[in-house]
Amino acid sequence: MDDAFLPSLRCPLDPTRQATLSRDQQTLICSGCQAKFPIKNGLPILTPSEAELPPEVASADRLPCVRAANRVRPRRD
Ligand SMILES: [Zn+2]
Repeated sequence: MDDAFLPSLRCPLDPTRQATLSRDQQTLICSGCQAKFPIKNGLPILTPSEAELPPEVASADRLPCVRAANRVRPRRD
Protein backbone atom coordinates (compact mmCIF):
# COMPACT_ATOMS: atom_id res chain seq x y z
CA MET A 1 0.00 0.00 0.00
CA ASP A 2 1.04 3.61 -0.52
CA ASP A 3 2.01 5.37 2.70
CA ALA A 4 0.57 8.56 1.27
CA PHE A 5 -2.83 7.21 2.30
CA LEU A 6 -1.81 6.81 5.93
CA PRO A 7 -2.77 10.27 7.23
CA SER A 8 -6.32 9.88 5.94
CA LEU A 9 -6.92 6.45 7.51
CA ARG A 10 -8.76 6.19 10.82
CA CYS A 11 -9.20 3.41 13.33
CA PRO A 12 -12.55 1.65 12.75
CA LEU A 13 -12.83 0.98 16.47
CA ASP A 14 -12.76 4.66 17.35
CA PRO A 15 -16.37 5.93 17.26
CA THR A 16 -15.16 9.50 16.90
CA ARG A 17 -12.92 8.56 13.94
CA GLN A 18 -10.05 10.63 15.28
CA ALA A 19 -7.46 7.97 16.06
CA THR A 20 -4.86 7.77 13.31
CA LEU A 21 -2.84 4.75 12.24
CA SER A 22 0.89 4.22 11.92
CA ARG A 23 2.56 1.56 9.84
CA ASP A 24 4.74 -1.26 11.07
CA GLN A 25 5.71 -3.53 8.17
CA GLN A 26 2.51 -5.39 7.17
CA THR A 27 0.47 -4.01 10.06
CA LEU A 28 -1.24 -0.76 10.89
CA ILE A 29 -1.31 0.25 14.56
CA CYS A 30 -3.88 2.60 16.02
CA SER A 31 -2.44 5.61 17.83
CA GLY A 32 -5.43 5.66 20.17
CA CYS A 33 -6.18 2.08 21.20
CA GLN A 34 -3.03 0.22 19.97
CA ALA A 35 -5.14 -2.29 18.04
CA LYS A 36 -3.37 -3.79 15.03
CA PHE A 37 -4.85 -4.20 11.58
CA PRO A 38 -3.37 -6.39 8.86
CA ILE A 39 -2.32 -5.26 5.40
CA LYS A 40 -3.28 -7.98 2.92
CA ASN A 41 -2.24 -7.88 -0.71
CA GLY A 42 -1.28 -4.24 -0.21
CA LEU A 43 -4.68 -3.25 1.18
CA PRO A 44 -5.23 -2.30 4.81
CA ILE A 45 -8.06 -4.35 6.32
CA LEU A 46 -9.70 -1.80 8.59
CA THR A 47 -12.60 -3.77 10.00
CA PRO A 48 -13.29 -4.46 13.69
CA SER A 49 -13.38 -8.22 13.06
CA GLU A 50 -9.79 -8.18 11.76
CA ALA A 51 -8.43 -6.09 14.61
CA GLU A 52 -5.81 -7.64 16.83
CA LEU A 53 -6.45 -6.12 20.23
CA PRO A 54 -3.68 -5.31 22.71
CA PRO A 55 -3.06 -8.22 25.13
CA GLU A 56 -4.48 -6.37 28.14
CA VAL A 57 -7.75 -5.60 26.36
CA ALA A 58 -10.30 -8.42 26.54
CA SER A 59 -12.83 -7.10 24.04
CA ALA A 60 -13.27 -4.15 21.71
CA ASP A 61 -15.68 -2.33 24.00
CA ARG A 62 -12.91 -2.13 26.63
CA LEU A 63 -10.64 -0.12 24.36
CA PRO A 64 -9.73 3.36 25.61
CA CYS A 65 -11.06 5.11 22.54
CA VAL A 66 -14.39 3.25 22.68
CA ARG A 67 -14.77 3.88 26.38
CA ALA A 68 -13.95 7.56 25.96
CA ALA A 69 -16.63 7.90 23.29
CA ASN A 70 -19.15 6.12 25.50
CA ARG A 71 -18.46 8.62 28.24
CA VAL A 72 -19.16 11.51 25.92
CA ARG A 73 -22.41 10.01 24.61
CA PRO A 74 -23.85 7.66 27.21
CA ARG A 75 -26.29 5.05 26.00
CA ARG A 76 -29.78 5.40 27.31
CA ASP A 77 -31.37 2.01 27.47
ZN1 LIG B 1 -8.25 2.61 17.77
